[in-house]
Amino acid sequence: MKIAVFDSKHYDIESFNETLEKYTKDVGTDRLSVILDFQFFENRLTSKTVKLAYGFDAVCVFVNDEITKDVIDSLVEYGVGLIALRCAGYNNVDISYAKNRIKVVRVPAYSPYAVAEHAMAMLLTLVRKTHKAYIRTRDHNFTLDGLVGFDLHDKTVGVIGTGKIGRTFINICEGFGMKVLAYDKFPIKDSEIEYTSLKELLERSDVISLHCPLTEETYHIIDSKAIRRMRNHAIIVNTSRGALIDSAALLEGIKDKNIGGACLDVYEEEADVFYEDQSGEIPTDEILSNLIMMPNVVLTSHQAFLTKEALNNIAYTTIDNIKTWYSGRELTNEVTL
Ligand code: NAD
Repeated sequence: MKIAVFDSKHYDIESFNETLEKYTKDVGTDRLSVILDFQFFENRLTSKTVKLAYGFDAVCVFVNDEITKDVIDSLVEYGVGLIALRCAGYNNVDISYAKNRIKVVRVPAYSPYAVAEHAMAMLLTLVRKTHKAYIRTRDHNFTLDGLVGFDLHDKTVGVIGTGKIGRTFINICEGFGMKVLAYDKFPIKDSEIEYTSLKELLERSDVISLHCPLTEETYHIIDSKAIRRMRNHAIIVNTSRGALIDSAALLEGIKDKNIGGACLDVYEEEADVFYEDQSGEIPTDEILSNLIMMPNVVLTSHQAFLTKEALNNIAYTTIDNIKTWYSGRELTNEVTL
């Protein structure tokens, strides 16, 4: 069975090859009646590159591949029967159009710790200014001027989305002695988490961390109105999906000092930029360039998932999803409306 893996990097190739061996040992040969032949493409899957999928049984895609109606039509025409997302979010797939045309599976959980720990790493970097201290000491500048931070202890963190990653982040914050407020469309019943309205969370929090999925409802959940509600020193952390934040409004909020800072692992226009070395090119995205220049913004290139454990879990579940589909068994990780 041939699988085209799009937007693949060295670490994907390594984790898939290593994990295929482990999977074979774990499940034995009875469920392995088919050989999985992964072919790795650096290209993202878009309407321009979909021709590469010709002759494959399945495609394996990541966060910035664009699975639009056109792409789905081409995949169906080529006889591709499965879209295997190697991530949890599926905002980049037209799920309603895929229904009854092609199966879509995902990896619902691979390491909430990877993402939640990265969120805390970014937050600590920003509040203790270690990104600046690192650059200074490399230049033998051992001064401390401008490096005054603040304690997280006793501060209020507002967590939007209390699913697997949100709850893991809450546990980490509680370990730091932070007070936790939360907002979720579907709050956990009988939980000890203090749920509030979104409005109250925005108004009371010193730190706000986003852990909800990107949907029509959550698109720009942090817009200029939300930023105006936030405390002037509040820090926003986004390790979920870029378009949860209106980035133009965020930049304005930062320039106007209506917000204390931002930790961004995702960016709404990241698809053409993230995961590419653009260091020799003239930047074309002014909002991104301006955000990066701000002293109170820390930005990483959608890397919160990037731990050894998470990569192996992603590969393992993806291989299992593909095998399950091939053998016609029930798809527990199918994405449906
Ligand atoms: P999850 O499904 O376990 O939790 C999502 C939570 O959001 C749920 O509690 C749900 O009720 C809540 N929610 C849904 N709609 C909402 C709304 N309109 N308002 C408020 N809350 C709402 O998902 P998870 O595993 O915790 O992942 C959360 C998100 O993290 C994913 O959707 C994905 O976008 C992102 N993610 C990012 C990375 C990365 O590398 N940066 C890696 C993995 C996941």
